[in-house]
Amino acid sequence: MESQQVSLPLKPSQIREKASSDCLLYMDGIDLLARRQEINPSFLSILLTLPDDNAAIAYLRALARETVEKVYGDQVFLRGLVEISSYCKNNCRYCGIRRSNTTLKRYRMKPQMILQCCEEGYRYGMRTFVLQGGEDSWWTDERLCQLVADIRTKFPDCAITLSMGERSRESYQKLFDAGADRYLLRHETANSEHYAYLHPADMSFAHRMQCLQDLKEIGYQVGCGFMVGSPGQTFQTICEDLQFILSFRPQMVGIGPFVATENTPFAKERNGSVERTLRLLAIIRLLHPHVLLPATTALGSLHPMGREQGILSGANVLMPNLSPVENREQYHIYDHKICLGDSVDHCYACLETRIHSTGRRLVVDRGDYR
Ligand code: SF4
Repeated sequence: MESQQVSLPLKPSQIREKASSDCLLYMDGIDLLARRQEINPSFLSILLTLPDDNAAIAYLRALARETVEKVYGDQVFLRGLVEISSYCKNNCRYCGIRRSNTTLKRYRMKPQMILQCCEEGYRYGMRTFVLQGGEDSWWTDERLCQLVADIRTKFPDCAITLSMGERSRESYQKLFDAGADRYLLRHETANSEHYAYLHPADMSFAHRMQCLQDLKEIGYQVGCGFMVGSPGQTFQTICEDLQFILSFRPQMVGIGPFVATENTPFAKERNGSVERTLRLLAIIRLLHPHVLLPATTALGSLHPMGREQGILSGANVLMPNLSPVENREQYHIYDHKICLGDSVDHCYACLETRIHSTGRRLVVDRGDYR
């Protein structure tokens, strides 16, 4: 376990007291952003390019922290992640488990094993299970509905989240009727040209957006999200992502830095910036104060204190891995992923210490949107 020392940020009012007049102007802009819940490309580019030590950046993060605490108090919610299949029919250009990566040994967990993982998570206080996998046709509606129904029966006080990619509206409806509560489907980018750059021609931006709309209309708590620093991303596309979040009003937003991954077309690209991800977490918190916002594993993978810094920038969710240790390396969606060999016991203790160091606490709670 690495050192878990973080310095707690000052309150927004304390930062203002010491600020120069230049910084105060930026802080006024941040206050306006939070009050009006609006963002424009020019102010976004200022916020994303100010030097790290500019007081306005500390102010942005402190205000985000104050905002999340007003809605959710000091609570940090856990989502137990079970990576149920590493098979995928798609070929997203950034993803390590894309179909064309023939270097991977693929696996698919048996339903009984998935239930055992949920049991273990439950013992550690997790009240949300996230079933995640590639778009694997073995997981038919019938099989997935049966699994969801079994989890619902066994853990009636838990939320069931699915993250299984694009499916038909009919399929989403069946899964919802079987007991699923939430669905995570990152939109990846709200700009159709950028989407076409990140994905092969057989994937469609319009269909991704339709899926998100269907999920919301059915009644799921929906999570969208994007990678920070993905190839082709610009201030303009990030601004479009934020505008999309403002109009779609998802219950969750997952963002993490892009991680260049071997055996993908983007293997030689630069990784996304941890610092930029933290600023965007804070901006999203101010634009959408009630959103559930994970400090993602990708953030912790690129910086040893990334998750703590995420929590101190407005995040309020963590997603520890409940998958069997022998499968984790095979679920290789990106390089340098942390916690591959850690038992649930170890992960829980590690996260508890880390979160305690931020002045917040892990809670036994489904962590629904409020
Ligand atoms: S990002 Fe998802 S849909 Fe795309 S290749 Fe990876 S697992 Fe499959």
